[in-house]
Amino acid sequence: MKQYLVFMCPRCRHYTNAPVGQKRRVCSYCGKIIDISKAATALFDDAQAAAEAVKQFNAGKDHDFEDAVQRSRDKILRLMPSDRIAVKDIADDVQGESLPTGKTRRLLVLLEREARDQPCSLDDFAKVCTANGLEWSWVETQLEKLFTAGDVFYPTPWKIMYIKAPSKTKAKGAVVDISNELLAYLREQDRDVSVKDLYARYAEMGVSEESVDASLERLMRKNEIYQPLPNFVRAL
Ligand SMILES: [Zn+2]
Repeated sequence: MKQYLVFMCPRCRHYTNAPVGQKRRVCSYCGKIIDISKAATALFDDAQAAAEAVKQFNAGKDHDFEDAVQRSRDKILRLMPSDRIAVKDIADDVQGESLPTGKTRRLLVLLEREARDQPCSLDDFAKVCTANGLEWSWVETQLEKLFTAGDVFYPTPWKIMYIKAPSKTKAKGAVVDISNELLAYLREQDRDVSVKDLYARYAEMGVSEESVDASLERLMRKNEIYQPLPNFVRAL
């Protein structure tokens, strides 16, 4: 039978649980990714006993938890002695707050690769991140933001999935300013030109619709062009 640990979320102080061997889980109450190896834990013989203990502890008797931690201490040390003195657990805390875009991009690539088509366990994802030079504590902060934005979700408390819809704009690159070229073209045409045709014309040159829109807006603001009809533009 699988043994379970019960521990407290360091942020919202709700109790929760995880099977022994799992190093991380997402708090069901506040979304924090809890590092179980850093938490005080109480050991229970199965999932049901752990779930009942969680209920009891959350009902408000903190010393019950402390007692259970005391009783479990030796058993837990025997189960996973190395987890409690891992050097990387200490190293994780010594990170600077510099966030170069390169890191963010790397994280998104890893999410895309590891957690796009199927859920990836938080433990495995942490390993991949560390192997690619991303500090886990920084990754946690990013994952919380992505979760809030709806770009990642947790199918179970220990698995993560990346669900952000692929963005057309980003795939095609940044928005570029083509106002000059656009204005020259519209003057040359000297007629009402549909925005749809402009999209098609510039798509062939690898320019995104967003770039066309942004450039049209810029020309509109400068009174270089106007809209004779909805979705048609013409040079003034
Ligand atoms: Zn919490």
